[in-house]
Amino acid sequence: MFGPPGVGKGTITEMIKEEMDIAHISTGDLLREAVKNKTELGLQAKSYMDSGDLVPDSIVLSLLKERITRCNGYILDGFPRDIEQAEALEKEGIKIDKVIDLKAPDETVIDRIASRRICSNCKAVYNLLFMKPKEENKCDLCQGELIQREDDKPESVKHRLEVYHKKTQPLIDFYRNKGLLIEIDASPNDPKIVYSNVIKAFRASVA
Ligand code: AMP
Repeated sequence: MFGPPGVGKGTITEMIKEEMDIAHISTGDLLREAVKNKTELGLQAKSYMDSGDLVPDSIVLSLLKERITRCNGYILDGFPRDIEQAEALEKEGIKIDKVIDLKAPDETVIDRIASRRICSNCKAVYNLLFMKPKEENKCDLCQGELIQREDDKPESVKHRLEVYHKKTQPLIDFYRNKGLLIEIDASPNDPKIVYSNVIKAFRASVA
């Protein structure tokens, strides 16, 4: 699942996971978990994440490989992030069948990130504009407090978008040339619409 920060990769992947019972592997989540648990890899990753830079490949790949051995089918969310990572995947024999590219203008994702909140306890994701919690500032699932991710603050977001355009976007052509790319308009602020566009385009691509 491909696209700029804040475009909805995690949200759409969760919706697919509900429907198809497939593993959702988010390298961002794996890294945040490692940081939270203060593991050796987490401690090494933290400063990169706080500033919105990419974490070194060796760290991300270790976490990914460990996670991927525990599942059959998977959706990778936030990986690969650059050509080197895509090549590392191929080298490891980790297969990608399709690449779903969620597209939305920078202004749209900046607005979405500004209103994104996560549960400090279970990490469920909300958006104060269009995926509001039932009770203000409280997680619907576990009643945990909702907070803003450190790297969702405006200083980091600007940098994350620059990193995306410079390092990650070139991967679009890499996968287009392999005939794997499915491009989706993810600009509607309604995840159900984007999800339905993804499913239609995915079905058409395998028909
Ligand atoms: P995300 O949750 O996908 O927005 O990722 C949050 C942060 O985790 C990014 O800004 C990076 O610092 C780090 N990160 C996540 N995935 C990767 C990856 N594949 N390679 C390097 N850094 C990553």
